[in-house]
Amino acid sequence: MAFPIKVCVACGEEFELRPEKPGFANRCPQCSAPEATGPVSKARMSADEMKGEREANAARRQAIKDLLYTRK
Ligand SMILES: [Zn+2]
Repeated sequence: MAFPIKVCVACGEEFELRPEKPGFANRCPQCSAPEATGPVSKARMSADEMKGEREANAARRQAIKDLLYTRK
């Protein structure tokens, strides 16, 4: 028995819309999987991790600034 072929809204791949397929009806199984398992871990960043990220960004900006300076 053939299932209707849908185009995934997330990746554009064609997939068979099977009745038992988990997740969204307009997404392929691959794109449905991450959301079916729960929230993305990146959203759960602790305050310390965010502080570290900010410091890393500041260091990166400083490094780029130094690089631009030496190229002059
Ligand atoms: Zn997809």
